This record gives sequence, structure tokens and C-alpha cells, in this order.
Amino acid sequence: MHFKDIQRVPGDPILGLIEAYAVDPNPNKFDLGVGVYKDAMGLTPILRSVKLAEQRLVDSQTTKTYIGGHGQARFGTLISELVLGKDSPLIAHKRVGASQTPGGTGALRLCADFIANCLPGRGIWLSDPTWPIHESIFGAAGLKVSHYPYVGSDNRLNVEAMLATLNQVPHGDVVLLHACCHNPTGFDLSHDDWRKVLQVVRSRNLLPLIDFAYQGFGDGLEQDAWSVRLFAEALPELLITSSCSKNFGLYRERTGALLVCTDTTEKLMDVRSQLSATARNLWSNPPDHGAAIVAEILGDPELRHMWAAEVEEMRGRIAQLRAGLVEALTPLGLGKRFAHIGVQRGMFSYTGLNDDQVARLRHEHSVYLVSAGRANIAGIDAARLDSLAKAIAAVC
Ligand code: PMP
Repeated sequence: MHFKDIQRVPGDPILGLIEAYAVDPNPNKFDLGVGVYKDAMGLTPILRSVKLAEQRLVDSQTTKTYIGGHGQARFGTLISELVLGKDSPLIAHKRVGASQTPGGTGALRLCADFIANCLPGRGIWLSDPTWPIHESIFGAAGLKVSHYPYVGSDNRLNVEAMLATLNQVPHGDVVLLHACCHNPTGFDLSHDDWRKVLQVVRSRNLLPLIDFAYQGFGDGLEQDAWSVRLFAEALPELLITSSCSKNFGLYRERTGALLVCTDTTEKLMDVRSQLSATARNLWSNPPDHGAAIVAEILGDPELRHMWAAEVEEMRGRIAQLRAGLVEALTPLGLGKRFAHIGVQRGMFSYTGLNDDQVARLRHEHSVYLVSAGRANIAGIDAARLDSLAKAIAAVC
């Protein structure tokens, strides 16, 4: 038999958590595990702007033919403007190109294969901890994966340790940075920290790859792009992966882009030819529907306005939940201990709860968190903040 030696690998632990949550009969259960945004009703809705754009596409689209290796040019321009700013000199000087990809994950995989094929011998440096899929994607592409410290066992961002390690990284290696809303910790670099990282990147001649999966979920659509724009304007070359899964709520439509910034237009053409050839072996042409929706929204002032307000609503809800949870923990004597939840950004929080506390929360209080104490803040029901705070207090 051909398959007889194939072993079963463990499933994604988050999927097991989803199943356990689904069968838990407790009506007061909390799902703080899976990484999707939820509204006050506990739903992950389709945005109104997305519905309208989708309807327009149904009415106006005339073909489903292939769209080419880099996807729609219009999507590429609009996503570059969203990420880098409409007035970015890189756009004016044709120093940036976007390739449409199946989600941010596809952009990361394309990037990984590009590095393996075109920049052989370069290692990649990931934050410790990082989104686990970063580890597997770059490993699968055959890159040497190393780590720089980010958040230690004391659950604090350690920028000094990060900079000290980056200062030892071999010249030319790639360093992956989270633009905002760090997954899984929620701890982001300050502007000052970013400037320091930029200095090291320059002095070690590193190639930054900025993963931008949560634009609009931290401090705002423009504010969250600050770090990306700082690097894009200061450096001759840069890689950026952008995801439309969260901010457009297009999770299953698989919509994202790999943006490459080069020092000249000529070099951009060279790099893009390689990306197109690499994508050919991965997915040939990217999926279109999600990107067509994004282009419809970003290219139409009315839809864009509606969408920006919807992103702001999601962002505002998360910010309120963060502040609300700290407030609910305060009368229980835990306000100071969990103050970091209010400082962190984006959907996720490294709460500082240990594995034993996470297990007790699950078994004794039906509160579902991922191990390492990562909570999806966007999964909290605002009306039950007090009950969540009491459950946390009971295991602390
Ligand atoms: N990067 C990070 C850090 C993420 O958290 C995610 C989503 N979980 C992604 C990239 C990619 O998401 P997607 O492929 O769904 O666009």
C-alpha cells in the first residue's frame, strides 16, 4: 500500500478548542480562542460595504477569465495606496509593486519562496513569540529560521533584548516585523522603538519583511501604517505582506498582497518577474473575488467612507473591551496586574495567565483561551465583562 507509512499529525490546537467550545452546554461560556473579529452579538458579520460592493460585482462583472500572475492592477494600486499612503513617493516614482495573493498567508508563502529562490543563503528572524504559521511557512520554504526576543516570560515587551539580538544578525538576513497588533502578544513597538529598529536594520544591512495583517485594528487605518511608511521612505528595499482578512472581514475569500519596494523601477520589473514565476508554481493566478471587492470599495469614495467607518467601529469595540476588562478587574484587586491589556493593541492579548490557569478557566468557568494565555479580546461579550473578570479572579 502506498500510504501505509503516513503518520497522522496533530491538528491545529485552535480547531480542537473550537470543537470543545461548540459542545460545551454552559450558556455563559466565552470563546476567546479563535482569531476572528466578533461583534456585540458574537457574530463575524459581512461588512455592509462588502455586501454592496459584492452586489455591484454580480451586476457588472462580465468574465471569470484568468487575471494574471500579479492579479488586478487596480487592486494593486489601491492596496499600495492604502498601505503606503496616497501621496507616497514610492508610488509616484514607480518603486513599489503589489502582487495579489490568497490572503496574507499566501503573501507570506510567496515571499518565503522568493527569498529561497532569489536570495539564497539568507536566514529569517522571527519575533519570539510570533504567529505559529510564520514558523512553518518559512521552514517549509527551506529557510533557516531564527528568533529575536520580543516578549519574555515576565509578559513584558523587551525592546533592549530585541535590539541586542538584531545587532548580531548576519548582514543581509531577513527580519520579519509585525506592523501593528502583534499576534499573539498584542504588544506593539513605540515610534521610538521603531526608529531604533530601523537604525539596526540599516547598520546590519538587513532586509525587513513587515507583516501587516491588522491595518485599522490598532490605532486607526493611517496610524497603524506609520511604521511601514517610516521604513518604506527610509530604505531602498522592503517587503510588505498585507492581509484584507480582518479589516475587510474577507477571511474566507483569501485576499491579500505582497508589496515589494525597490530602489529603481527597473529593479522592480526584475523582482516582479520572479514573483510571477514563483506564484505560477504555487497558485498560478490568485483568486479574484475578494480583491475585486476591495478594489470596488477603495476605488469608490462613498463605499470607502462606509468601509472606513465600519473598520473604526470594529477598532472602537476592541478598544472599549480592553478598557472595560481592566475596569471590571479593578474592584477585584487585579486592575494593576492586568493593566497591560489596556495598553496592548489589536485583537489579541497575552494575558499573562499560565497554562494551569488557562486550563482551570476552561474546565471550571467555560472560558476558552489558547495556551500561553492568549485571549482574543474581540471575542468578549461586553455585557458579561463582570462575569469574565470574576472567572479570571477565581483562578488567580
Ligand atoms: N499574519 C498574521 C500575524 C496573522 O495573524 C494572520 C491571520 N491570522 C495573517 C498574517 C494572515 O491571515 P490571512 O491569510 O487570513 O489573510
